[in-house]
Amino acid sequence: MYDIKYKTKKLGATISIFVPYDCENNCPFCMNKKEYSNMHASSAGSYAAVYKIFKSLNKLHEVTPSCDIVLTGGEPFASLEGLGFILTFIETISTKTKTKHRVFINTSLPLSISEDETQILDFVRKYSNIITCLNISRNIFPYVKERSDSFIRQLKLITSVRIHSVLYTEDTINENLIYDFIKRFENFDIQFRQDYMNTTPFHLLDANVETNKLVSYINLAIEKLAIHDNVSLESKEYIKTRKSTDIKYLLSNGNYVYFHQTLPYSQIKVPSVENSAIYNVLYDIVIKQNGEIHSDWDYTEFNLKSYQLCISNENFDND
Ligand code: SF4
Repeated sequence: MYDIKYKTKKLGATISIFVPYDCENNCPFCMNKKEYSNMHASSAGSYAAVYKIFKSLNKLHEVTPSCDIVLTGGEPFASLEGLGFILTFIETISTKTKTKHRVFINTSLPLSISEDETQILDFVRKYSNIITCLNISRNIFPYVKERSDSFIRQLKLITSVRIHSVLYTEDTINENLIYDFIKRFENFDIQFRQDYMNTTPFHLLDANVETNKLVSYINLAIEKLAIHDNVSLESKEYIKTRKSTDIKYLLSNGNYVYFHQTLPYSQIKVPSVENSAIYNVLYDIVIKQNGEIHSDWDYTEFNLKSYQLCISNENFDND
């Protein structure tokens, strides 16, 4: 009936919302920066843009009322007012359906945003029942004028915080830098990431992820923690999907270190085992700053009716 056939995760694809507020940075590995320099960002920052996002979010919420939502940018904290509107909207639609979304906010919490630290702390406190986790970017070599680590520690007293760190570039990173970084954020879960822009299906197919230079540096850094800090590795788990490979290290101090490797696109085509159909496996649905819905980062068309059909037929994909 519909040309596009989807499969997705059990609670539905993650909804990634590009907030209509840019950041003032230019990280060399940024996947999103170009989003804010084209015509799609022309209405950025306006109330009209936020309302267009609400309209699209509401449509998707009706189909998957408990999926994960990621607010990304740009810089979500560049407008506390705008971010507050979005979080309140998520809470309102969830209350109506008696459901709950997990809500993650990707932020670099730069010094450039005008709000002072008390305002940000008050804001996070106010919305702590809606925010599941703040994913705060901190990199071994900083590309952003950052707020202090002690401020991040204050935020952690209010809500969950995970540190996200792009290991950029492979040639300038080593195990000692990673060790120092884990020590710097010793009470936090840390997700190290490969530069997505350079990840190919070949990387993911590589059965022995240990051949990855960055993974070997993380392994060595964790060994160093055991020798110098009495923090040992409790377990190591590999999680593979068609689009990503993750390694999850549990340390004896209770913290997790992750290594995340994913493709620079989200939608994967797979042939059906039952018939001749080709399915698009959806991991992320993207709401752009202008409210448009796409089924990938690169403006791939999204078909709401096919998605409704996919969910109502429980066309889930476990990989
Ligand atoms: S702070 Fe984030 S959104 Fe801004 S340029 Fe860096 S990676 Fe991109």
